[in-house]
Amino acid sequence: MSQPNAPALPTHAPMTQFAIAGGQLLIAGQPLERLAARISQTPFYVYDRGLLARRVAELRAALPAAVRLHYAMKANPMPALVGLMAGLVDGIDVASAGELKIALDTGAIAREISFAGPGKRDGELRQAVAAGVLVNLESCREVGILAAVSAELGVPARVALRVNPDFELKGSGMKMGGGAKQFGVDAEEAPRLLKEIGAAGLQFEGFHLFAGSQNLRAEAICEAQQQSWALARRLADHAPAPVRCLNLGGGFGIPYFPGEQRLDLAPIGANLAELAARAAAEMPQAELVIELGRYLVGEAGIYVTRIIDRKISRDRVFLVVDGGLNHHLSASGNFGQVLRKNYPVAIGNRMNAAEREIASVVGPLCTPLDLLAESMDLPAAQPGDLVVIFQSGAYGASASPQAFLGHPAVIEALV
Ligand SMILES: *Cc1c(COP(=O)(O)O)cnc(C)c1O
Repeated sequence: MSQPNAPALPTHAPMTQFAIAGGQLLIAGQPLERLAARISQTPFYVYDRGLLARRVAELRAALPAAVRLHYAMKANPMPALVGLMAGLVDGIDVASAGELKIALDTGAIAREISFAGPGKRDGELRQAVAAGVLVNLESCREVGILAAVSAELGVPARVALRVNPDFELKGSGMKMGGGAKQFGVDAEEAPRLLKEIGAAGLQFEGFHLFAGSQNLRAEAICEAQQQSWALARRLADHAPAPVRCLNLGGGFGIPYFPGEQRLDLAPIGANLAELAARAAAEMPQAELVIELGRYLVGEAGIYVTRIIDRKISRDRVFLVVDGGLNHHLSASGNFGQVLRKNYPVAIGNRMNAAEREIASVVGPLCTPLDLLAESMDLPAAQPGDLVVIFQSGAYGASASPQAFLGHPAVIEALV
């Protein structure tokens, strides 16, 4: 019996994006056990094409048509998925020459690719100029290299200045702007860099501002967009050419942990509509861009791992599965989280089971960090059952230390 005035424990946002039939979770209409048989090994990640397309359509409906939507592929660089996304969005953001190759191989249009990141190597900058993509310039050093490469190749480098803003995106899971940062150039330094870009003969196209990531508060995102606009408006007076591209960043989050709710897009759509109207009047050549990673792909993917063993230790149930932090570092709580919390988890072949128990799901690695769910209320499960981790379409396989302890690599499927 619960105490009369005990506060209700926070729960996970409902994972209704996947249907259920016959007690099985359905991925693109396929029962999970059948899909596991087709893939023929666990663990695996699976991403649902229909959900990816639906997410982009929902965003397009909520945001003004004038705002261009980019996919930041570091969230999920699986080539087949990047290829699908390239056909759905207006551009791909890459953060290395390796990602650039994948984007180009999928047929993404070079003009619509932008390349950001600190510490771009000379060779990477050369490849980017040869490819004709937009380089988000992040340091003084890059000006000189881009000028030399432009002269050598006879192709002017297309650049946007990435500015480390003088504000933060409040309440973000990861802050990537404001204060002292390795990303971009400080707003105070931007006028000097803009002069250098002009003097070096680079093709200036605009600004890139990215304040933070994984934010679930629409007001905070709107405020950062307003501040980004104001900063770009000020800096445009120092620019060597009209602003054609104004990348306002992203930061749209998805609910991972108990108590978190899905982001409300309506206020963000209204805010961007207002900024688009101002841009049309005050910066008429500029296209507004937002760049999203996890928001586009995170909810469309699951990680599936099979129970190998069921152990009881001093009255606590441990479900030992065949994959863990080696494949899914973020679900284990070791990818930037301060306090470990559970992702939403299910037993994918017992979705309607009446019998439940409190259990912990642990991976096969010989470290206590290999924990996928701690003391969760789950259907009573046995070896052979399939544990599903939701919200796993972003920062999964590519963001995990797969070689750690020498287990087999994870498979990824797009269905
Ligand atoms: C990581 C990153 C993104 C994507 O962040 P999400 O939280 O996945 O949306 C977008 N832009 C830049 C510059 C990034 O570094």
